[in-house]
Amino acid sequence: MRLISLLNHYQHFPGFVYERARHCASSQTIEIAVRPRRGSRPVCSGCDKPAPAYDHLKPRRFEFVPLWGCMVVLLYCMRRVDCRTCGVRVEAVPWGIGKHQLTKAYMLFLAHWARKLSWQETAVSFRSTWDKVCQSVEYVVQWGLEHRQLGPIVAIGVDEIQYAKGHKYLTLVYQIEQQCTRLLWIGRERTVASFEQFFILIGAGLAGQIAFVCSDMWQPYLTVIRERCSQAIHILDRFHIVAKMNTALDQVRAGEARRLARDGYEPVLKKTRWCVLKRRANLTRQQRFRLRDLLRYNLQTARAYLLKEDFQQFWDYEQPSWAGKFLDEWCGQVMRSRIDPMKKIARTLRSHRALILNYFRARKQLSSGVVEGLNNKAKLTMRKSYGFRTFHVTEIALYHALGKLPEPDVAHRFY
Ligand SMILES: [Zn+2]
Repeated sequence: MRLISLLNHYQHFPGFVYERARHCASSQTIEIAVRPRRGSRPVCSGCDKPAPAYDHLKPRRFEFVPLWGCMVVLLYCMRRVDCRTCGVRVEAVPWGIGKHQLTKAYMLFLAHWARKLSWQETAVSFRSTWDKVCQSVEYVVQWGLEHRQLGPIVAIGVDEIQYAKGHKYLTLVYQIEQQCTRLLWIGRERTVASFEQFFILIGAGLAGQIAFVCSDMWQPYLTVIRERCSQAIHILDRFHIVAKMNTALDQVRAGEARRLARDGYEPVLKKTRWCVLKRRANLTRQQRFRLRDLLRYNLQTARAYLLKEDFQQFWDYEQPSWAGKFLDEWCGQVMRSRIDPMKKIARTLRSHRALILNYFRARKQLSSGVVEGLNNKAKLTMRKSYGFRTFHVTEIALYHALGKLPEPDVAHRFY
C-alpha cells in the first residue's frame, strides 16, 4: 500500500488515482490498478470535452515504464461517454494514445533510448520488442512532424544516400544554418519528381526566402534548384567534389592494379588504397612509406594522386577570380594527362565552373562540412538499423536521429 500512496502523491494523471498494486512473480510484472477519481467526469476521445459516462468496458492493459527490471502494467476499465456531438465514444485517458498498448510515457522513454542505442539494443535492455520500439519511435516522429515549425529557412543542403541493397538512393534535404542544422525532408528517390515534393511541402513562400543551396552535381537536383530556388546562391559542396575525386582516383588505381597483374608485374599497388585516398597528414607511418615507394614508379595512380593533392590548394583561395584561374589551369593539366577517370572529373568541374566558384562567394556565411557531418550521421543511423528494410522505417529512423523534432509533453519524464 505504501507504493500506491507514494505514486498518488505525484498525481501523474489528474482525474485518476492508483488503486492497488500487485506483483506477479512468475511473469515479473507489477500490475497497478487505476480508477477514476470520485466525481471526475470522463473526457470524450472525439472532441476532448467532458461528457457524461455511459458505461465501461473490460479492463485494458497499458504498458508503463519498467521498474526494478519488472514490467509495469496499468490496469484500467475504459469508460464510454455519451457525447452530445460525437455520440457514444470511448473516453480519452491522459496516459494512453488511441489504440496503443503502450503508454505515452513509455513510448517517449523507449524512443529516447532508441536514439542512443540501436533499436534492438533498446528492446533487449527494457525487455520490450523491436516492434514496440519501432511503434514508439513512429509515434514520437509523427507527433514531431505535425508540430514542428518549418520556417524560416535560409540555407539548405541536398544530399543523396544509398539505401537497401543495390542502387537505390534517397534524397535528403537538410537545413544547414549555424543556429539550426537538421534533417528537413526525405525523398524516396533522387529524381526531379521526388525532389520537387520538398518544395511542394514548404511552399513557394518559404522557398523564396532560401538564400543558399548546397548540392552535388546530380543533374536532377541542379534542375529542380534552378527552377524552384532561382534567387538562391547555389553552391557545389566541397565534400561532394572531394568524394568524386576520390572515386576517380580509386578507379585509376584499381584499373592499373588489374592491368599490372595481368601483364605479370610485381604487385606494387597492393594495399595502397588508403595511402592514396587519405589526406597525407592522416596517414600512418607505414602508409607514408608505402606512398613514398609508390610515387617512385611512373604509374598512372601516382600521377593521379599528385593531381588530386594539387587540387587541395584550390580550397585555400579567398577570391573567386583566383580560384577560377587555378581551376582552369588544373583542368588543363589534367586534360593533358591521358588518365581517363581524371579527365572525366576535369570535364565535369569545367561544366559546373560557376557553381563551384560560388563556394568562395558563400563560404563566409556557411560553415563548411555541415552536409558532410550530417551525411555521416545519416549513414551511421542506417548502419545501426538492422531491420530497416522498408522505406517507411528508414524514414522514421532518420527523422528521429536527425530531425530535431519537438516532442509531446508528459507530466513526468522517466529519463
Ligand atoms: Zn465528443
